[in-house]
Amino acid sequence: MATERNLRIVEDAAHALGATRRGRALGALGDAGCFSFHETKNVTCGEGGALSLRDPASAERAEIIREKGTNRSAFLRGEVDRYTWVAEGSSYVLSDLLAAVLDAQLDRFEEIQARRARVERQYREGLRDWAAEHGVWLIPEPEHGRSSHHLFYLLFPEPATRDRSLSRLRDHGIGATFHYVPLHSSPQGRALGSGRELPVTDRVAATLLRLPLHPLLTDTEVERVVETVRASLS
Ligand SMILES: *Cc1c(COP(=O)(O)O)cnc(C)c1O
Repeated sequence: MATERNLRIVEDAAHALGATRRGRALGALGDAGCFSFHETKNVTCGEGGALSLRDPASAERAEIIREKGTNRSAFLRGEVDRYTWVAEGSSYVLSDLLAAVLDAQLDRFEEIQARRARVERQYREGLRDWAAEHGVWLIPEPEHGRSSHHLFYLLFPEPATRDRSLSRLRDHGIGATFHYVPLHSSPQGRALGSGRELPVTDRVAATLLRLPLHPLLTDTEVERVVETVRASLS
């Protein structure tokens, strides 16, 4: 579609680092891919992100925009003998200190992902029969690729059961949560929107529950979450 209409694709791959579809990395499917290293992501430096670009000329332009409109990146590579202002830009550079925090996690990325995948598997196996019995859906596994193992959610048949399960988990000190407020119902979304109803989005927001998922969860802790979820509607 994009080719037919001569459009550029910018992928929101914010939490897709490590995920693939039909053998291709998410964030590398379109013209640009945006990744987030916000504190909530699998690897993080608090805030910040990465931009991947297909076209080398766009990458060169992005470097200049990031470096306050200067060609300092080319200077640091020794391609020019001093740097100067060549275009518009602003200050989007990640600090070296934050980059170091991130770099150490990227060195252990496979390990982090493997641990997250194991937590996900344990949830799936522990909840599969209970979910089927209660009309609850578990986050589907990708059919043609690898997940980024960023989150694990359940979809309840109606808001009341989600709310009951959520408060039960919280009573047991488990950091379960719902997800984002649908943008179309936020004040800014309403100001910009068409006023159209989005009933599927509304239903998902009201019935979705996320379970804790991070690499430091032990098998025993995951088991405790599973047991608490399984008891949460009875
Ligand atoms: C986290 C996230 C964002 C926001 O990332 P920032 O680094 O906070 O800008 C955007 N889209 C998706 C899908 C995300 O998961």
